[in-house]
Amino acid sequence: MSENRGLFTTDKAQPYLAFEPEMAVQQLSERLWTISDGTCRSIFIKGRDGVIAFDTFGTPGRARAYARAVNDTLPGREIGTVIYSHDHLDHAGFAADLAPGAAIIADEICAKVIKLRAAEGQLQPTRVLSGSEHRISVDGVDLALLNPGPTHGSGNLAAWFAEEKLLFSSDTILANARYGLLPDIHLANFVRFMRGFLDLDWDTFVPGRYDLTDRAGFSHGCDYIEAVQDACQQAFVEFVPIWAYEPMRGYLMNKLADRFGDLDGFAEHVGLTAIRVVHHYLMGGWSLEDTPEPGYLLADAVQL
Ligand SMILES: [Zn+2]
Repeated sequence: MSENRGLFTTDKAQPYLAFEPEMAVQQLSERLWTISDGTCRSIFIKGRDGVIAFDTFGTPGRARAYARAVNDTLPGREIGTVIYSHDHLDHAGFAADLAPGAAIIADEICAKVIKLRAAEGQLQPTRVLSGSEHRISVDGVDLALLNPGPTHGSGNLAAWFAEEKLLFSSDTILANARYGLLPDIHLANFVRFMRGFLDLDWDTFVPGRYDLTDRAGFSHGCDYIEAVQDACQQAFVEFVPIWAYEPMRGYLMNKLADRFGDLDGFAEHVGLTAIRVVHHYLMGGWSLEDTPEPGYLLADAVQL
């Protein structure tokens, strides 16, 4: 047994890479489904001839379980198109195991990172989108793919379905506080860009992990990240040892429990989230993506 291994180097990872979880599939409209492996979440769409699948899930085994669940839902239809929501391996790392012959659509920045990363199993996009808003037709389905700027990961594409009044944006806002360390969330513009999605007409939000929510839940999620950012800045003023987990967890719990203690995972995750956020202010953010005009990222340095 030898699975595509992403960036793992040890053979000890093989059982992790091969594990095939139960997938939970939920129909959202006549043509649209959401699917979860218990943690991560994605969507897939019935096209005119085949299936358009967003992302791949995070291991070869999970990608195979995804393919099987799609086939159980829409028997006899091939996954003809995969759309990467962003570059991260836990969401988009294993198209080679999901649908090796599919066309793959991704944002330009996402494609450049994937090219340079060369992770085993993460296939290079075949169609690259540049810019902030794309109205494209794929397999008879009109799609609105949106990238307002760096939010999470590289080249994050959200999908807005006007007909369903539904927004899918992976690994950005959650309906809970299970954000962990917020790796690769670009805090300088994150909440501003995410709140911009509220200008669109939608009622249902599908996040890249955990449960669905509505506009109120999405707004509360934006408020939470903003409140963590605010409290973390106050922690500097009050000389909290911002590099240490326990003091930061205690400080944030004290400041935010009244407003956000109801969020699932708050007590377990707010300390870790705070450690990441203070380093944004301490160090200046995540390279070029956290500058006021983040459009320069990778610019023309990488040729696809
Ligand atoms: Zn991610």
